[in-house]
Amino acid sequence: MIGLAGTFYQIKADGVAYPVEDSVKTPFAVVSFFTPDDTLELDTADSYTQLKRHIDGLLPSQNIFYAIRIDGNFKYIKTRSVPGQQKPYPPLVEVVKEQSIFEFHDIDGTIVGFRSPDYVQGINVPGYHLHFITKDRNAGGHLLECRMQEVTLQIDHINNFFMALPHGGDFYRTDLAQDKKKDVEIVEKGTLRRGVEK
Ligand SMILES: [Zn+2]
Repeated sequence: MIGLAGTFYQIKADGVAYPVEDSVKTPFAVVSFFTPDDTLELDTADSYTQLKRHIDGLLPSQNIFYAIRIDGNFKYIKTRSVPGQQKPYPPLVEVVKEQSIFEFHDIDGTIVGFRSPDYVQGINVPGYHLHFITKDRNAGGHLLECRMQEVTLQIDHINNFFMALPHGGDFYRTDLAQDKKKDVEIVEKGTLRRGVEK
């Protein structure tokens, strides 16, 4: 799911961005009202790792949240999406084995997402979690790799964090005592590479 400027999109396993109806529910979302503290031109980033290192160098602290938005023409973007699941829901680490991979070259669009501090382990994804959507809002996904030149980078420093939990239902009965750290690393950092290449 990608929320951008008040509009939400769902990137399904076919890579297409579908507008989300107001009535649709989601098991997990991280959202913020975006008011950038920094806006700057980013000359070049040759990889996702380099992008993260570059942004890290601009941040005043590792210990607060940041919302990040990058607009422009991207030389290369690699994203993934996972297919919808039925009950009983398998762990996400199993679901990503069925992930679809999408590649874009020389594409206009927006990267958007968050950088969260290490201490959120267990309730969010520590570090960067970015999604991409094309400028025409037709395609995108969870960002796995990227290369860019002369794009606009905006960073919002976020000093508060509010978490809403479900009222009852399966969430009340699920055993959440196990340590999911490894699973989250595999799922979010794309360490697992057995996906269906498209
Ligand atoms: Zn994601």
